Amino acid sequence: MTKETFTQTQLEERLTHLLGCSIQKASDRQVYDALLKLSQSMAEQRQSQAGGKKLYYISAEFLIGKLLSNNLINLGIYDQTAKLLEQNGKHMGDIEEIENEPSLGNGGLGRLAACFLDSIATLNLNGDGVGLNYHFGLFRQYFEKNAQQVRPDVWLTDDSWLIRSDRHYDVTMGGRTYTSTLYDILVTGYEGRTNRLHLFDLDTVDESLVKDGIDFDKTAIDKNLTLFLYPDDSDNDGRKLRIYQQYFMVSNAAHLILDEAVEQGCKLTDLDEYAVIQINDTHPSMVIPELIRQLMERGLSMNDAIAVTSKCCAYTNHTILAEALEKWPLSYLEEIVPQLCPIIEILDDRIRRKVDDVSTAIIDSNDLVHMAHMDIHYGISVNGVAALHTEILKNTELNAFYKLYPEKFNNKTNGITFRRWLMSCNPELTGYLRSKIGDGFLKDASLLEHFKPLLEDQQVLKDLIQIKQTKKHQFAAWLKQKQGIEVDPESIFDVQSKRLHEYKRQQLNLLWAIHTYLRIKEGYRPERKITLLFGAKAAPAYIIAQDIIHGILCLQEIIDHDPEVKPYLQVVMIENYNVTAAEKLIPACDLSEQISLASKEASGTGNMKFMLNGAVTLGTEDGANVEIHELVGDENIYVFGQQADEVIRAYEQHSYVSKDWYDKNETLKEAVDFLVGEQMLAVGDEHRLNRLYKELLNKDWFMTFPDFDSYLEARAQAYADYEDRLAWSKKCGVNIAMAGFFSSDRTIAQYNQDIWHLN
Ligand SMILES: *Cc1c(COP(=O)(O)O)cnc(C)c1O
Repeated sequence: MTKETFTQTQLEERLTHLLGCSIQKASDRQVYDALLKLSQSMAEQRQSQAGGKKLYYISAEFLIGKLLSNNLINLGIYDQTAKLLEQNGKHMGDIEEIENEPSLGNGGLGRLAACFLDSIATLNLNGDGVGLNYHFGLFRQYFEKNAQQVRPDVWLTDDSWLIRSDRHYDVTMGGRTYTSTLYDILVTGYEGRTNRLHLFDLDTVDESLVKDGIDFDKTAIDKNLTLFLYPDDSDNDGRKLRIYQQYFMVSNAAHLILDEAVEQGCKLTDLDEYAVIQINDTHPSMVIPELIRQLMERGLSMNDAIAVTSKCCAYTNHTILAEALEKWPLSYLEEIVPQLCPIIEILDDRIRRKVDDVSTAIIDSNDLVHMAHMDIHYGISVNGVAALHTEILKNTELNAFYKLYPEKFNNKTNGITFRRWLMSCNPELTGYLRSKIGDGFLKDASLLEHFKPLLEDQQVLKDLIQIKQTKKHQFAAWLKQKQGIEVDPESIFDVQSKRLHEYKRQQLNLLWAIHTYLRIKEGYRPERKITLLFGAKAAPAYIIAQDIIHGILCLQEIIDHDPEVKPYLQVVMIENYNVTAAEKLIPACDLSEQISLASKEASGTGNMKFMLNGAVTLGTEDGANVEIHELVGDENIYVFGQQADEVIRAYEQHSYVSKDWYDKNETLKEAVDFLVGEQMLAVGDEHRLNRLYKELLNKDWFMTFPDFDSYLEARAQAYADYEDRLAWSKKCGVNIAMAGFFSSDRTIAQYNQDIWHLN
């Protein structure tokens, strides 16, 4: 592994050679292409030939974000390149704009996988990602008539980071054999080695199959297999397509794993000395029976195949929401992957003989196959993604399994890569921290704590305010250019950006906004203007989530046309929230909304990104918020709402009746009623607004009403505290200083130490 370094002249020579002309004369696109080629050739030089045990991180999503700047940072030539471009009349910002954001992920789970790849390479660990190459990814979101609209997210271009390999495998599904093609994306760590993200695809996929919006023929597997991530599964064809995708992913993965192990001289009964597989949520769970099947095809007995597979696989649980723990009808598997069914039946049978508790069976009495159960019985490890989440798994959700295998359960609190979520998105703060505490924290994030004592210095607090203002101005300019909306950087930026889900409770935030709108109409004047920013995509089949977006957009319109309220409150929904938008938005945030119903958010990673960039959290005691609270202390976070154990009890006892809370709380009632009041109906869709209103009144499954009052109170306190600018800045500083624990380098070091045992 050699690492190239350049003098400024050498860099210029390399680039002009790649361009075939001077940098000045080249177009932005030509410069982008040249930098892409340069990065790839430098990355290739950092590939390690060393063998040894290897990790395969299999995931349905990798939300990697744009790659150019991150790669230049990790290769150590970002600053140099930016300077060279400036000298030649070009700007890194413009070059970055050329790149389409890869659309290979959805939300937190996919972003986590991307952060992990960065950290694995940074820690010089031998580990690759395995997934699928979706042509149109999730979907692209835009707003029309105050509602979310969707179209395909066309991101693939000739100059993408994908490298077509000559690796192909045959995969038999639904009675046909499909030949895969493997594409690779090089993943270079920060001053570290280069690993690969392996993305399998099918050459016969036909993008013209997509007609209206994102609709397409779900039965034409040869043409549709890798068109979209998470195709609509509200009908049977959609559900089957997901099984096709999952099997295609894991069958290719198993081929790759066995080929690479054999190349290293592995005897297949010793596979666990050559390979460890991390199963990211249940989408890749079929890798267990498929690996067993392929091992038998290569000559192992079933006993040996099961034994060695069980030593290779580890499972990460990402949610306790029942609907997300996948269960596939055995009949679907018999139709699509009949070769796996006898194996799954034997796996189930062995458990039934050994374990009395039928609730842990793999195939239940309705002939549903519980993917997570298979992972837990036939894997070496089960981990949750934050301390509270792992405790809930052990004590409630997966308690029957915990009793069987206490030694398998462990916690790995999520993390984020500081290369993207600090160095790349906030060079101003990064530069400042370097000037104050040196470079060490870039490699060892725990050293960020050295920043904490400096917060006694008023000048430091003022500097932090200045940096935040800069980021707010930059964000305002970006938003103006993208969406034509103006926001005031002197206002408080209060942000909730994440996938739209009822458990995350954007609807609670909406009720706050309605309440505040009504107060302002009554003459109350907030001390300072509040800009409430939302960013969220909703799954197209998730009706109530669409309705919540509709509610937010309607309120946005009402306020935009109300000169009485506009100077004090603005609501903005950012279109197509993705990594690129997050990188602009998060550094500009003052108050970070992390308001999920306690016990429902497994970890969250958005909360960590905001903290690292000097925002203060307003949140429930949920997921990693609990750990943030412990690290920063009561003074530097705003917590509110019910505790996880109260919520779990309320569900067990079916004791929550939303209507009771509505009836006894006049303030709440007024906000809820507003949803179907004249003003909303004047700009919105009656049907949608009524449905949302009724959902809250008759169900409110995620218990927004009981937390409403304490939410108003905590939020008012945060805004009041904001006015003591220096005291607020100190809170921001403490959050930055204590964020080191949330580096994904720490998370990955723990995975390696406890589960993978690489090197
Ligand atoms: C980090 C991130 C998420 C996850 O946010 P949570 O608040 O943890 O749900 C989702 N989407 C994007 C684009 C992200 O960068």
